[in-house]
Amino acid sequence: DDRVHKVLELGQDELVVYVAELKIDGLGIALRYRDGVLQRGVTRGDGIRGDDVTSNVRAIRSIPLGLKTAVAGDVEVRGEIFLPRVAFDRINAERRDAGEPPFANPRNAAAGTMRALDPELVLRRGLGAFLYQLVESTDEVATDSSAITSGGHGAALDQLVGWGLPVESHRGRCEGIGEVLAYCRRWADERRALPFDTDGVVVKVDSFSDRVRLGQTAKFPRWAIAFKFAAEQATTRLLRIEVNVGRTGAVTPYAVLEPVQLAGTTVQMATLHNANDVIRKDIRVGDYVLVEKAGDIIPKVVKPILGRRPKGDAASVPFVMPSSCPECDTLLERSDKEVVWRCPNEGCPAKNRCGLLHFAGRRAMNIEGLGESLVNQLIDTGLVRDVADIYGLTVDALSGLERMARKSATNLVAEIEKSKDRDFAQLLFGLGVRHVGEGAADLLARRFNGLDGLLDASLEDLEAVDGVGPVVAASVRTFLDKEQNRRLLARLRRFGVRMDSDLARAGALPQTLSGRTFVITGVLTSMSREDAKAAIEARGGKVSESVSKRTSAVVVGTDAGSKLVKARGLGIETVDEQEFRGLIND
Ligand code: ZN
Repeated sequence: DDRVHKVLELGQDELVVYVAELKIDGLGIALRYRDGVLQRGVTRGDGIRGDDVTSNVRAIRSIPLGLKTAVAGDVEVRGEIFLPRVAFDRINAERRDAGEPPFANPRNAAAGTMRALDPELVLRRGLGAFLYQLVESTDEVATDSSAITSGGHGAALDQLVGWGLPVESHRGRCEGIGEVLAYCRRWADERRALPFDTDGVVVKVDSFSDRVRLGQTAKFPRWAIAFKFAAEQATTRLLRIEVNVGRTGAVTPYAVLEPVQLAGTTVQMATLHNANDVIRKDIRVGDYVLVEKAGDIIPKVVKPILGRRPKGDAASVPFVMPSSCPECDTLLERSDKEVVWRCPNEGCPAKNRCGLLHFAGRRAMNIEGLGESLVNQLIDTGLVRDVADIYGLTVDALSGLERMARKSATNLVAEIEKSKDRDFAQLLFGLGVRHVGEGAADLLARRFNGLDGLLDASLEDLEAVDGVGPVVAASVRTFLDKEQNRRLLARLRRFGVRMDSDLARAGALPQTLSGRTFVITGVLTSMSREDAKAAIEARGGKVSESVSKRTSAVVVGTDAGSKLVKARGLGIETVDEQEFRGLIND
């Protein structure tokens, strides 16, 4: 503000008008519209060159394919592609279910999604976009919208809104630096209630003519500056580095820390991402490390505090990734494409433990009583080596286990018996096929009726299923083609585990919701969001990620957020969970 006053030769009491905008931590994007029609979308990786991501951009719902007003000539607008927090949480839950490593933050998830060049994935993941800059335009446009040249940045943003482009709505016009500071202070707290992550505020001089007078330094314009919110960080001691074996055999290091307070919680463990990262940052046991909680996700170790590294006798040594599995001692493997080390042993007890827990989980075969300590015992005693073995368990065998009364054993056997009747979709999800989450399992069970149909399906058949991408299709085919898995499925069938699905027959349900589009927001207590979606679609309805004028009704669970606000704003009907159940049972 001082510099702006000086260059513009303003008096002390003259206020500069600024526009303050929330800084979205996303992926930079440039869109080009020709005669009002979206032509091209390019990422701005290095600010100069980018990748053509036009087909992905078209799959982002908030980006219009055509501008509301017919604008002649070329218009380029810039902004950010981002992932709303709810979508981020959902994707990470799905990735954990599918045995894939979760994304560290929404920014990575958005970037990874755009890189995949798979519009269906973009659509399914629900990427959003905010635009904040009109870069260049042909002469016709400039004369048509004189507000842009004669007015300022705020007017230009309003123009973008007028064209139907998504612009972040909390931007503020600030008269004087005092209002800018108030804006920054307010959002340092209130940002937590936003449905997306923001890491700061961008403050720009509003007037374009003043901007020209201000000019720029070698690197940055003198008329804009970013204010960064303080990240929640703490320093603590790294006690140990341990490695964890996941369901797919991924072996990843994590930090065990001296307990420390961070963003209102006590933190004792933090992610170290992967072995490469630990070595690159030279994080060592015994170091004091900077720990950060960004976007309220799992804390991560940022870097070691080198000045506090122990010397002399207590000197630390660089981290060495174990070469073999901590559970089964099999040599770890790593493919060229991946940074993650994996235990290749199909019979690895760590993988089996995770796999069994997943199989028995509530959203899979839902076997009550088959929890972590029991699973450990079953594996350690050799009673169970794969999921089919569960169905061979007897009351006698179970009673022989530690802390297992005969009554509990009887109950568990009854629960196991009950699980034989679960839908094939739950079984498929429970098998833990890589990349197959609950949603994909539902889609496959619905399309192919059950195991026999699935076994007959070619790779092309699998890929042709709406919502199933090539990665999932290939993974399913590979799984089914493995002799070992065929034997496992045959054994499950012999034990009387059901191999067909009701979902396929759901097509025969009366199409009571035909022609209606629903949006689900918040958490439903009696069913998962996937189930709610399936229920709507089975009755001919459609489910959309975002609320628009075309939305028929919004199903509102607990902790509903911006979608509810938007629905109210647009006067769209809302139904609570009970009403929704009535609707689908009608
Ligand atoms: Zn292993």
